[in-house]
Amino acid sequence: MTTTVTRQIVRIDEDLCTGCGLCVSPCAEGAIVMVDGKAKVIREELCDGAGFCLGVCPTGALTLETREAVPFDHQAAEPIIAEKRKTYIPQVCFKCGADEDHASLLPVRQRGRSEWVCTRCLPALIHG
Ligand code: SF4
Repeated sequence: MTTTVTRQIVRIDEDLCTGCGLCVSPCAEGAIVMVDGKAKVIREELCDGAGFCLGVCPTGALTLETREAVPFDHQAAEPIIAEKRKTYIPQVCFKCGADEDHASLLPVRQRGRSEWVCTRCLPALIHG
């Protein structure tokens, strides 16, 4: 019998998903994959529910829900994280171009676009 716990996990609205694939890269654990042109969480134990994918979705197809699911499995995710690191292209701040190796980035939505902004540029966005 598989043990489940009540926790947060990513929910994908297939009707809103356009299959752009933008959410795959921010998911370090490889929980989100594209299947037949739609994003899917195919192994729930790889989704830690952190929600880093949410901010990049241009259509709002991604949300977090709280429900019964198998627990997040660190051991299963670790080799996938290591493999993704080999080919990962760092995201960059849309304002200053700093990449995530040199700054902490946060997802933002503006004018219908999903972008990344670094913490140094974020105050200017907040305060104008
Ligand atoms: S970012 Fe949104 S629209 Fe694009 S593939 Fe992921 S869920 Fe679908």
